[in-house]
Amino acid sequence: MSPLDSGSAQRSANRSRVIHALRQHGAMSRAALAEIGLSRSTVASVVGELIEAGAVVEVGGANGPHPNGNGNGSRSKAGRPPTLIGLKGGLGVAVGVEIGNGIVRIAICDVAQAMLRHKTVQVDEQTSPQDTLLLVDRLIDELLEQTGFRRDEVIGVGIAMPGPIQRRTGLTGRACTLKPWVGLDPRLLAEHVLGLPVHAGNDANLAALAEMTWGAARGLRDYAYIYTATGIGAGFVMDGRLYVGANGTAGEIGHTTINEDGLVCACGGRGCLNTLANPDAITDQLWQSHGRRPSIGEVISLAHQGDAGCRRVLADAGRHIGVAMANMYNLLDPELIVLGGSLAPAGDILIEPLRQSMMRRAIHAGEAVPDVVAGEIGIDVVVVVGAAAAVLRDANRFPLPVR
Ligand SMILES: [Zn+2]
Repeated sequence: MSPLDSGSAQRSANRSRVIHALRQHGAMSRAALAEIGLSRSTVASVVGELIEAGAVVEVGGANGPHPNGNGNGSRSKAGRPPTLIGLKGGLGVAVGVEIGNGIVRIAICDVAQAMLRHKTVQVDEQTSPQDTLLLVDRLIDELLEQTGFRRDEVIGVGIAMPGPIQRRTGLTGRACTLKPWVGLDPRLLAEHVLGLPVHAGNDANLAALAEMTWGAARGLRDYAYIYTATGIGAGFVMDGRLYVGANGTAGEIGHTTINEDGLVCACGGRGCLNTLANPDAITDQLWQSHGRRPSIGEVISLAHQGDAGCRRVLADAGRHIGVAMANMYNLLDPELIVLGGSLAPAGDILIEPLRQSMMRRAIHAGEAVPDVVAGEIGIDVVVVVGAAAAVLRDANRFPLPVR
């Protein structure tokens, strides 16, 4: 190999490292890019080459695009924060898909991490996987047309399922709450129908990626995300990576035992957290006092208006979740715990009793236990943009047209 070849191989490796860092962290300053292990002069020359190649752009000092924002992110140059370098959004898009109980959601995010469009469609829960994927296929075309991107500009599709996906086999586990999908391989099925590269993951894990990319856990390397939907799940980010476990069931915190003599859970266990604190378990307790079973959204809004019974059941749910959180904290030691999903809008009505319950049981190693905060990304989009984030962040499986 001539010295010239080795120099160009090194330059190409440096470009890849910069692109990889921008995919992981979104727009970064030149100083932050130097912290990935390149000298400032190397960063300056690599960034210059990438700007010339049309792969990156200077995006001002704003905090970066956000799924709760106007859809295209802020490009304002107000104030004098350091100029950030970001991938050029026009390079391509990632598609996020959420296949939930009775709904299909799609979101299109560009490689600059801006959410461009999203759409939710109601479906029958018994819809076959094949028919669901044909619907997804049509929705992708519809949203791509609205964003002006072509199908060959899709770098990949992330699909979120409401249950664990076994890491070795790729099959949807029995705990999946969408029965027609149990035992199937959602990635293979989707790749066959969509003709695009696919990543399939669990909804709580992908929502954890969303909060890490755009929300309350931005920039953290060790954090736990609690996702409250039909059941309670968790996503663990350890040393900057999602931890899914050998069988993909890591984070099934809703099935940890809170009361050994409690009610029987759908999993066959007794007294699981889900039997005490999932939305159905909370709303079931209001028959006597309210003469009906309000939805969880109503319970939360009544609680904010001062309804004592609704405040009580949410506080009790917070205490039960706090027991599970203390056990999780004692094992994993996260920097922060983010509570997202349908219970997050309860805010401190639920989170303050959760904190107290957790503090009573957590090991204090001289430092305070981590804070518990509500998720920052809207519950309607947190899973679907997380599915897109899984594609945006994975430079190995979903390469960009530039290197
Ligand atoms: Zn259970």
